[in-house]
Amino acid sequence: MTEPYVTEVRLIELDKLRQHEEVDPAHLKELKEQIRSDKILKFAIVVDKNTNVILDGEHRYNSLKELGCRRIPVVYVDYNSPDIQVQSWRNNLHLTKKDIIEAGLSEKKLPPKTSKHMIKIGDCLLHISAIQKRTDVPLEVLNDIELVDIKKVKPTMCTELREVLPLYAKFLDTGIVDDPIIIDEKTSVILDGHEVFQALDLLSARKVPAIKVNIFEMKIRSLQQGLKPVTTEAIIEAGLKGPRLPPKSFKVLLEPLKVSVPLGELLAPEEEDRKILKVYNNTLELLYEGWPTPLVKLKSLSTDKRSVWAKLEGYNPFSNSVKDRIGWSMIVEALERGELKEVIYEATSTNTGIALTSIADILGVKAKLHMPQTIQKVSDTYLKVLGAEVVRLPVGLTVEAIGQGDSEARINNATHLNQFENDANFKVHLKYTARELDEQLKSGGLKPSCIIGGLGTSGHMSAISFYFKNRYRNGVKIVGVQPAPNEVIPGIRRVETGMKWLHWVDFDEVVEVKQVEAIEAAISIARKEGLLIGLSAGAVVHAFNKISKDEGVYVLIFPDTGYKYAEQFENYFKNLQERQGCNAVDG
Ligand code: PLP
Repeated sequence: MTEPYVTEVRLIELDKLRQHEEVDPAHLKELKEQIRSDKILKFAIVVDKNTNVILDGEHRYNSLKELGCRRIPVVYVDYNSPDIQVQSWRNNLHLTKKDIIEAGLSEKKLPPKTSKHMIKIGDCLLHISAIQKRTDVPLEVLNDIELVDIKKVKPTMCTELREVLPLYAKFLDTGIVDDPIIIDEKTSVILDGHEVFQALDLLSARKVPAIKVNIFEMKIRSLQQGLKPVTTEAIIEAGLKGPRLPPKSFKVLLEPLKVSVPLGELLAPEEEDRKILKVYNNTLELLYEGWPTPLVKLKSLSTDKRSVWAKLEGYNPFSNSVKDRIGWSMIVEALERGELKEVIYEATSTNTGIALTSIADILGVKAKLHMPQTIQKVSDTYLKVLGAEVVRLPVGLTVEAIGQGDSEARINNATHLNQFENDANFKVHLKYTARELDEQLKSGGLKPSCIIGGLGTSGHMSAISFYFKNRYRNGVKIVGVQPAPNEVIPGIRRVETGMKWLHWVDFDEVVEVKQVEAIEAAISIARKEGLLIGLSAGAVVHAFNKISKDEGVYVLIFPDTGYKYAEQFENYFKNLQERQGCNAVDG
């Protein structure tokens, strides 16, 4: 059996509600004055969720209308429930629920104080006001909810990504944003709803539903245990100048309120005006204004019933790889938190190192990188040209080089961004890579049946999984690719070496690939499609060949191009020649 009422309080537009009886003018006047002098509405009213007819609270409804408000807090009930009964305040008058609804939906209202609604809670029959939650909503909150430009609101607190993701998933799944944020009317600093703001920002929303209040009239509770209490001035400063306050450092004392704004109203128009002429004001813009990276159909792998698409992350300008995205987002977040020092330390297998050094160069910051011995030598040359300091460590995997950079960064007061743990990695792929892929597919009327990509930090594929699994439920199969045991494929590694975000999301399958298989698949794409792709992209193609079916829409994520892997291609051809030579002798 369903509950006859929902305990959450929703802010509903007054225009949507219907009253079923007239109000008593004297009582209305008195109540209106009371609300005006309190500057708050204490209790939510009760409304039938099926018809929007008000069951209790018509005087409050009319008071707010006359006070120029647009919304009212409502507790919705299911009026069909037998637990709700209608009685009359007048003796001898028999009222039915049908009478109430008919009066609500017609122009003929019942006289003031005719109906009385009761609700059964446990064994007791109580007046329905028993479920009217005390909300104490300030009148200004009821005035209006605005859809505010997301770039104009100023976050004051950091958030935990794990608290943002459920909201992101809910908004994407329901298509409705039901939590407004609270901002200061003068400064636009956020007082409440940081997680909602972050979720909408990750969805690339242009607007956010906001309630404007005067920060100096709000009751704020500081939650920083053992630290200095957060003052109103500190909140404003965090929003206007930064750095942001730690997560959950303060709370506005306001009952949570719900609204209902279609997500579509907050997002950019689907056919966004792109920078068709590709003119950029600086080299950093070349990166983020250049997105989306291309999505191209691979004719050699497609058939009548199956289309195969490759997302070419090699089109990013700095490292010519997917890693430009995280280099940028990790640095931007560090800047926002006031944590970017003069030197950036990072463990890298090349691409992240190039991305970080390039962006550091633009910002006038230095980079010191730790790389495993197993990585191709040419990387040192590229990084030297860009001005990074490179230290090779006698380890096989990039993750094994994290500790060294971390301790050195601490000693030298430098910034260790740590792509393996830094949520800016996952977030940038959620906000851009995954969403742009969806938009690109939608522009061709396509819904993916399977997306395949390599696992390094797991950042890009975990974000893609999170996005598509929430957007299309389990209609999309997500496949990760890892090197077979004891195989080296630059950029990707085995799941058991430890990955953060992979465990937050669903993968349907993880496919193992040997280095030689990756190289051969890359060569076959080069010779059929004319694209020189990297080894991890080759591994993705091999995985596709292994698992693909005859039908469906397949998306392959190609993290980079083949130009950095001349060494591996050369060795492959040399070995091939030797083998062929042997065969010739044998034969
Ligand atoms: N392929 C290449 C060439 C890479 O450089 C990387 C990451 O370093 C990946 C794949 C894996 O990407 P992610 O770290 O997002 O899992």
